[in-house]
Amino acid sequence: MSDHQRDSLADELDSRYSRQILFRPIGAAGQERLQRSRVAVVGMGALGTASASQLARAGVKYLRLIDRDIVEQSNLQRQSLYDESDASGSVPKALAAAEKLRRANSDVDIDPVIADVTAKNAERLLADVDVIVDGTDNFQIRYLINDVSVKHGIPWAYGGAVSSYGTMGLLRPGRTPCLVCLFGAQQGGGHDTCDTVGVIAPIVSMIASLQVAEVIKLLTGQEDALNPGLTYIDVWTNEVRKIRFQEPDRQCACCGQRTFAALSARSDALTVSLCGRRTVQVKPESPPAWSLETVAQRLRAVGAVRHNANLLRCDLGRIQISLFADGRALIHGTDDDAEARALYARYVGM
Ligand SMILES: [Zn+2]
Repeated sequence: MSDHQRDSLADELDSRYSRQILFRPIGAAGQERLQRSRVAVVGMGALGTASASQLARAGVKYLRLIDRDIVEQSNLQRQSLYDESDASGSVPKALAAAEKLRRANSDVDIDPVIADVTAKNAERLLADVDVIVDGTDNFQIRYLINDVSVKHGIPWAYGGAVSSYGTMGLLRPGRTPCLVCLFGAQQGGGHDTCDTVGVIAPIVSMIASLQVAEVIKLLTGQEDALNPGLTYIDVWTNEVRKIRFQEPDRQCACCGQRTFAALSARSDALTVSLCGRRTVQVKPESPPAWSLETVAQRLRAVGAVRHNANLLRCDLGRIQISLFADGRALIHGTDDDAEARALYARYVGM
């Protein structure tokens, strides 16, 4: 080996993506494809920060980071891109994440967006990328992502984690079932959320890693290696389940008949209105799938709860929630619509 050959081999091994290129299924050709790819990550919580970090380091061309929240102390246990100064400075998550990732890889065009994804902006935010990564914590936004995915033919990596368990799957329009094929048109809400049953970091890293693995296979053209179903994992009970995808449902309202209920909703599934000083009313469009009793049981873990057949009151410190049996809630302690909607999603669930 000449000196020149030795130098160029050393350069190659030192280069940023050398270990990824050495991995045969990716190779130099796959790396080039990755470096031409555009990805949007929706939600920069625990799943989103873990996914975005891996994708930025892997060297995608463009990464859009979308989140409506600010960094809080209680995020630091699992949201791996944030630190104490982000929490004490109440920095928006999208901006804090973008700053960290630019330091990790300045080659990537990182585009932070501070926004709530709604029927009005979903297509503008999500229809111009190669793949969408789900880092959200609620089905309202997942149905919007699914509508954009099917309407514009963009695959998306579904992922969710609470407590010690989580589920993920890569949904590809026309090739796999869509979210509506899998779960029906409505998820009634009232299920466990990270704010009611907690969540531990290992399951979040696990689910995000599985999402990114599928995204990298897809973007590098390794479709034969894709996971052909949903994967469910519980890191506490050690249970792993794989649910193989069926064919897409021809009768599916979304991918079969191409009606996009979430995108065409005239209002968001949760309408909000200011009602009095530092109180916002949040009202779901459809009747709730839960009872006050089941919500009360979950909220007892996080705050003082009183309830009867018609009304539940929960005191969370700065915020108090009055929840009615018809699903309507008064969020006391804020006059910010987006915060009220987020609190409803977190504590009541949707
Ligand atoms: Zn479908």
